[in-house]
Amino acid sequence: MADIVLDHVTKRFPDGRLAVDDANLSIADGEFVILVGPSGCGKSTTLNMIAGLEDISSGELRIGGKVVNDLAPKDRDIAMVFQSYALYPHMSVRKNMGFALSLAKRPKEEIDRLVEEAARVLDLTEHLDRRPAQLSGGQRQRVAMGRAIVRSPKAFLMDEPLSNLDAKLRVQMRTEVSRIQNRFGTTMVYVTHDQTEAMTLGDRVAVLRSGRIQQVGTPTELYGRPATVFVAGFIGSPAMNFVPATVEEGELRTPLGAIVPDERQRRLLDGWTGAAADRRSLIVGARPEHFEDAALEQAKDCPGLRFTVTVDVLERLGSDSFAYFTLAGGQARTADLEELAHDAGTVELSGKAEQVVARLDAASRIREGEKAELWLDVHQLHLFDPDTGRNLD
Ligand code: ATP
Repeated sequence: MADIVLDHVTKRFPDGRLAVDDANLSIADGEFVILVGPSGCGKSTTLNMIAGLEDISSGELRIGGKVVNDLAPKDRDIAMVFQSYALYPHMSVRKNMGFALSLAKRPKEEIDRLVEEAARVLDLTEHLDRRPAQLSGGQRQRVAMGRAIVRSPKAFLMDEPLSNLDAKLRVQMRTEVSRIQNRFGTTMVYVTHDQTEAMTLGDRVAVLRSGRIQQVGTPTELYGRPATVFVAGFIGSPAMNFVPATVEEGELRTPLGAIVPDERQRRLLDGWTGAAADRRSLIVGARPEHFEDAALEQAKDCPGLRFTVTVDVLERLGSDSFAYFTLAGGQARTADLEELAHDAGTVELSGKAEQVVARLDAASRIREGEKAELWLDVHQLHLFDPDTGRNLD
C-alpha cells in the first residue's frame, strides 16, 4: 500500500517563515490528489516534505503506514517530476529513462525492457535514440515522466510539470497525465497553481492559502460547496462574484435586488443569525454561469431574480458571452471581502462600485453599452459570513 498521510505536518524555515501550517491530508493508495493555490502558499514545500527534500518541523508523515520523517529521499520509493525536466542533455532518451535503474545496478536486459515498455505507453519509441535538445517541450516532459515510471515507484510527485509548455500542449499533456495515472494506478500528488488543471485532473483537490489547507474535496464538492470565500473565488472561471447583502424583514437585500431566501437559505440564515442576532450583513456569492439573459428561453418563466443593468463590456466567445456590469452602492464590508479574497487575485473591488460578470448563452442579443435585463438563479447563491469568510452551508 502506498497511502500518504500528513498528520499535523508543519514546516517552519530557519528564517522563521511558516510555510506549511498544521497540514492534515490523507491520500489513499492509487489516488490522484492535486495541491493547488496561489504562489507562495506552500504547495512545493508540502511536496518536498513528502519527497524527503525538506525536513518536517513538526507532525508526522506516513507512507504505506510507515513513519518516514527521517527516511532519506532515496529510501522512500517515490519518484518526483519537476517543472524543469532535469534531463541529462548529453544522454539519449533511452539512457535518461534508464538512468536510475542503471545506478541501481539492474540487469541491462531488464532496463531495456522497462524503458521500451514505458516508451510505448508514452509514445516515445521512435525518439529513444535522440537527445533531449532534439525533442519538443511535450516530448521532454514525457521523457521526464518515463524516467519516473520505469522505477515503478510507490508514488509519483509532480511539481507544476506542465507549466513550461504552451497552452495547447498543456491541455494535451493534461490528458496524457490522466491516462498515465489511470494506466498505472499509482498514487500521485500533483502541484499546480492553475485551478483548471486542478479541477480536470484530480480525484481530489486540496486548496492551500498562506500555508494552510483551506479545503480538501472532489472537484464537484469544491465547486458546489466551497468552504470559504477564498476557495469560492479561486475555483471556477470566471471567478464567483461577491456582493454584500443584508438580512432585513426576512429578505436578502443585495445591490442586485431583494431576494426571498428559499428553504435551504432560510435554514442557513436561521442557524447563523441565531448565533449572533445582531449580525445582519453577509456576503453573497453568485457564479457567472448562474446568470442569464432574461429574454432567453432558459430564463423565461423561471423563478429567480430579474434586474436591469447597463452592460459595460460584452465579450463574445462564440459558445457563450461574458457580460460585465457595475453595481453602484453596496459598499458594506468591502474591505473585509478584499482581505478574505485578495490572494485569489480574482476579486477586484473598487470600493464604490463592484464589477460583476455574467455568463450568457451565445443566443443573447444583449449589446455593449445598452441596458439589459438579466436573470439570476437565486437557488444557486452561496452565503458567506463576512467575519470569518466561511460558507454558512
Ligand atoms: P509557487 O507556486 O510560487 O512555487 P508554492 O505554493 O509552491 O509557490 P512554496 O515554494 O512552498 O510555495 O513556499 C511557501 C513559502 O515558504 C513562501 O512564502 C516561500 O517564500 C517560503 N520559502 C520557501 N522556501 C524557503 C526557504 N528555503 N527559506 C525560507 N522561506 C522559504
